Amino acid sequence: MSHKITFTMIKPDAVADGHIGAILGKIAEAGFKINALKLTQLTVADAKKFYEVHAERPFYGELVEFMSSGPIVAAVLEKDNAVEDFRTLIGATNPAEAAEGTIRKMFARSIGENAVHGSDSDENALIEASFHFAGKEIF
Ligand code: ADP
Repeated sequence: MSHKITFTMIKPDAVADGHIGAILGKIAEAGFKINALKLTQLTVADAKKFYEVHAERPFYGELVEFMSSGPIVAAVLEKDNAVEDFRTLIGATNPAEAAEGTIRKMFARSIGENAVHGSDSDENALIEASFHFAGKEIF
């Protein structure tokens, strides 16, 4: 499984803006296989825990509030070099700096409300996948 799995969320802004289908389409087109998928909503406690590495950052409160504000789509994706290739597909954190054709360039509202999450390491991909999915939900 090493180097093959990443975890993503379609964030509340992109779900509210009606972009679930288009974003899943871009993900499939880029060659990722979907191993787990669900529409769900983070509680404030879930969002605090998921983003606890950012607890000292000035935007943490805003991030927790936003990420728990509405439904998200959580997914586990499989592809060779999944973590790096998915981060290339989504683009820079700030959509104003994201490359043309990236998911954030196309669908994000702002640096905070930036449409999608992508794991930043193989280790975090596994931690984040198991935060959201039971073993029997990952195929
Ligand atoms: P990435 O999601 O690209 O890996 P980070 O790990 O740095 O980015 O940040 C996590 C999330 O926190 C971002 O995706 C974004 O939603 C939010 N965020 C990052 N920087 C800012 C900022 N300066 N202001 C508001 N929200 C931010």
